[in-house]
Amino acid sequence: MIEIKNIKKSFVMGDHQLDVLKGIDLKIERGDFVAIMGPSGSGKSTLMNILGLLDVPSTGSYLLNGLEVAKLTEDELAIIRRGEIGFIFQQFNLLPRLEAWQNVSLPLIYSEGKLNFDKAARLLEQVKLSDRIHHKTNEVSGGQQQRIAIARSLINNPQIIFADEPTGNLDSKSAKEILDILKDLNAQGITIIIVTHEEEIGRETKRLIRMRDGVIQSDERFKPLVVRDEKISPRQYGNPFSWKEILEHFSQGFRTLLANKVRTLLSILGILIGVAAVVAMLALGSGAQKSIEEQLSSMGSNLLVLRAGNIRVGGVMQESGSRIRLSLEDASALKKQISAIKDVSTNVTGRGQVTYLNKNWNTSIAGVSPSYALMRTAVPDYGRFFSDEEGLRRALVAVIGRTVARELFGEKNPLGNMIKINKINFLVIGLLPEKGASGPQDQDDRVIIPVQTGMYRLFGKNYVDSIDIQVTRREDISLVEETAKELLIKRYRVPISTSDDAFQIFNMAELQNAITQSSKTISTLLATIAAISLIVGGIGIMNIMLVSVTERTKEIGLRKAVGAKRNDILMQFLTESIVVSFLGGFMGIILGWMITFTFSMIIGWNASVSLNSILLAFGFSVMIGIVFGIYPAMKASKLHPIEALRYE
Ligand code: ADP
Ligand code: MG
Repeated sequence: MIEIKNIKKSFVMGDHQLDVLKGIDLKIERGDFVAIMGPSGSGKSTLMNILGLLDVPSTGSYLLNGLEVAKLTEDELAIIRRGEIGFIFQQFNLLPRLEAWQNVSLPLIYSEGKLNFDKAARLLEQVKLSDRIHHKTNEVSGGQQQRIAIARSLINNPQIIFADEPTGNLDSKSAKEILDILKDLNAQGITIIIVTHEEEIGRETKRLIRMRDGVIQSDERFKPLVVRDEKISPRQYGNPFSWKEILEHFSQGFRTLLANKVRTLLSILGILIGVAAVVAMLALGSGAQKSIEEQLSSMGSNLLVLRAGNIRVGGVMQESGSRIRLSLEDASALKKQISAIKDVSTNVTGRGQVTYLNKNWNTSIAGVSPSYALMRTAVPDYGRFFSDEEGLRRALVAVIGRTVARELFGEKNPLGNMIKINKINFLVIGLLPEKGASGPQDQDDRVIIPVQTGMYRLFGKNYVDSIDIQVTRREDISLVEETAKELLIKRYRVPISTSDDAFQIFNMAELQNAITQSSKTISTLLATIAAISLIVGGIGIMNIMLVSVTERTKEIGLRKAVGAKRNDILMQFLTESIVVSFLGGFMGIILGWMITFTFSMIIGWNASVSLNSILLAFGFSVMIGIVFGIYPAMKASKLHPIEALRYE
């Protein structure tokens, strides 16, 4: 079943070449029990590694069951290792975190996709370790460890077992037990090749090969070999991808992470902070945006505010003319002559001392037209706004804001009560809707009265300060801006030289756009900064995974030796980093939600964590796990089995 011809192996050490195997020819039949002996450094292990498909020869041919090994791919070699070959090492090479049965089952992950307790227990019984099934490696003796390793080598029913000095680290009693087990296995038909130092062991086998300096020195047979000439039927090996295997990787990943709690916690923390920041920033950002938009829309939409400029007209000299003063008639003319205008409101403003009984409050007073209520979303919650008729007769009625109501009336209902504004009696007829503070300005701290009342009875003006113009359609805003200016320039006969400065029109829509835009920019900026912290967390994961790969090089070598393919190792490390980022993401979302909740309670924003931002943060964190896990995982998967095993 094994036939090698002129196998040579050399290692390049710096600038010189070390020839370890110098042309070996060997044929081993099915069912044989071969011992290889020779002084240390003669190339026994090198030969065994080549025979066991853990290493490749420099030149020469190796036929295993008639297959030319040199022509096989890395994955095909892994499949043969896992199915046909069992390897027993001098150092046992058990995984310390796993229980005996899990160590025995390990190769099954790669052949069947999951551990199998029953199978492992049966094999442990065969090596007389039924009472150590749940013990960890450090809880059993060396001889017992080697028996576990033998059970592991048997789990896939191999045809051949390679044992490289299996008793080298054991006392003579344990060595005897191991030899008995191997003899027993050979009696069952398994081909066994063993490297040993001990003459007694060599003599117990069927055939003894002595090596010296990379060549075979002698080859003697003690016991006859019964050649059973059965044809070997090629075996089928499990499907290349299985969910069971992925699941097993996840559960192993969890176990590994649990074994390194502090390290795992730290890398989870990195992702956790990043995700929490992203979730909270997105929620708070959109909350801020929402509250800004609410306030803006309460200012009214499609609104232009018209004021007279600071120039003089009508005199010979500019200085001697009079300032332009806007009037109630200007407003009606605008509304009448420009069809794109939906409504206008004339405004006068000033401050006033408001009193009720012995309460006293200084606030801003606005005289406005009745149309103001709809244009500026100021329709009273309680009571009513004043009418055109009340305006015309300069009625002494007032609509008051919440702050004023609270200061003057406390919990009492203000409607129907008389207040004094600058010592003039007013009847409170309505309560303005609550608007909240915008910046330092309290929008609820004001009193609204009819514009004519304000002009003639309170402030003693015969002009208005500004005219609000509401445009029906957003597209017409700039057109209205132009035509309104032209109309007024004509009405006041403003000379061309100063016409540009005669009237100022503020486009509230533009202002609103600008504010909305900058609030969007700010929340994007915040989210970006948060995302950067998530990336930093990802680098943390990568760092820790790289350490882990280096630390577990030997484990990777062993996994490959028992049949793990490149992808199996890749998946194993990738699932570990995904588990970390998954856990970090999960906790991060909870923390982010708590931050959002606390902040919006304190600030009074209506910020809520949206499903989108949760999905985004979660997807992003798992992606971080993949992106930053892939490099260490690739690094691990590319390790050469024998080099990884030899790594200290
Ligand atoms: P042994 O017969 O004791 O098992 P080995 O096969 O392990 O001997 O090694 C034979 C020789 O090859 C030794 O001199 C060893 O130093 C050298 N050797 C083995 N593996 C390597 C390697 N990967 N790189 C360089 N030299 C090696
Ligand atoms: Mg050796």
